[in-house]
Amino acid sequence: MVVPVKFIVDENVGQLAKWLRMIGYDAILLQGTDDGELVKIAHKEGRVLLTRDTQILQRRVITNHEVKAVLIRSDRTKEQLEQVMKELGLECYTRQFTRCMECNTLLEPKSKEEVKGIVPPYIFRTQEQYMLCPGCHRIYWRGTHWQRMKKRIDNLER
Ligand SMILES: [Zn+2]
Repeated sequence: MVVPVKFIVDENVGQLAKWLRMIGYDAILLQGTDDGELVKIAHKEGRVLLTRDTQILQRRVITNHEVKAVLIRSDRTKEQLEQVMKELGLECYTRQFTRCMECNTLLEPKSKEEVKGIVPPYIFRTQEQYMLCPGCHRIYWRGTHWQRMKKRIDNLER
């Protein structure tokens, strides 16, 4: 089995974390972490570092390829995601919406009965499939927000 690429996202490209999670990739974003710490975590956990900071790329573990890093060129999130997908050959269909966009935890499918009384009545009447995040207890369903995001994923240039 191929182990999917894992990421550590620098705060200067923070939005990318959400999008990577949406297509099912493990992406962590740490607030207020200095460069040294970022690189250390990337190294320890085998994560690819995404950043717009050319300075951090001068660090030895990156120049000697112990840590893989991608210098993000665009300041637009859509183009940033397209760049990462192209350069690392990511695919965005098989794992869509398997991971919490907010906290990176893997989602668990829940039956309609299990979310009764938890989701709003209108949602309960109209939706059949639900996913629960065991990390932050958000419940996801295929509502309009989901559709909108899916459309944006489908429109990505690959
Ligand atoms: Zn969560």
